[in-house]
Amino acid sequence: MNALERMITEKGVVIGEDILKVDMFLNHQIDVKLIQQMGVDFYEHFKDRPITKVLTIEASGIAIACFTALLFDVPVVFGKKGYHKNVGSNVYSAKVYSFTKGVSYDITVMKDYLTEKDKVLFVDDFLANGAAAEGMMQIIAQAGATLQGIGIAIEKGFQEGGDKLRAKGIDLYSLAIVDKMEAGRIILREQNT
Ligand code: 5GP
Repeated sequence: MNALERMITEKGVVIGEDILKVDMFLNHQIDVKLIQQMGVDFYEHFKDRPITKVLTIEASGIAIACFTALLFDVPVVFGKKGYHKNVGSNVYSAKVYSFTKGVSYDITVMKDYLTEKDKVLFVDDFLANGAAAEGMMQIIAQAGATLQGIGIAIEKGFQEGGDKLRAKGIDLYSLAIVDKMEAGRIILREQNT
């Protein structure tokens, strides 16, 4: 069991049937050493790829993306949620349905920060149905950039995002995979980490 898996088991709180609350180390308070280790793990997995940008979505992906980008020595670009008047039309955008909030929102990235030369590693805190990842892939396509891989901290294996992305041949690497949540218990998939 890796440090993230141990933390999920010890501190994660199950809300309803399918939401995992990890505010105490990832989504509100941040355990910096744990997030730093995520960056190391993503780097180890993707280091042979010619990454030029680490892409994520505000807010919780940013810390993970920064520790990852530090090792690749490349910038982080994060998708902004909601419509921003001050960016005008100089943006790529996609609509993303938020599984946790039950609403759709626009995600935008300024054209200046993603170009056809970029080889992108997308990282995020959670993967559920894959809407956020699909939205970011639309933005990568609009820019003419290339997706090199996706790094996820916590994949919920009982939702369809992981299967959909792997079926497309994407190099998807999840540090922890939750297979089931029942009666408040979190059951993790065994991985060789
Ligand atoms: P997806 O777009 O794959 O359906 O959902 C991924 C996004 O929704 C993540 O960026 C994350 O912010 C949020 N999310 C989905 N499921 C969970 C969950 O169980 N717990 C938390 N904290 N966030 C989640």
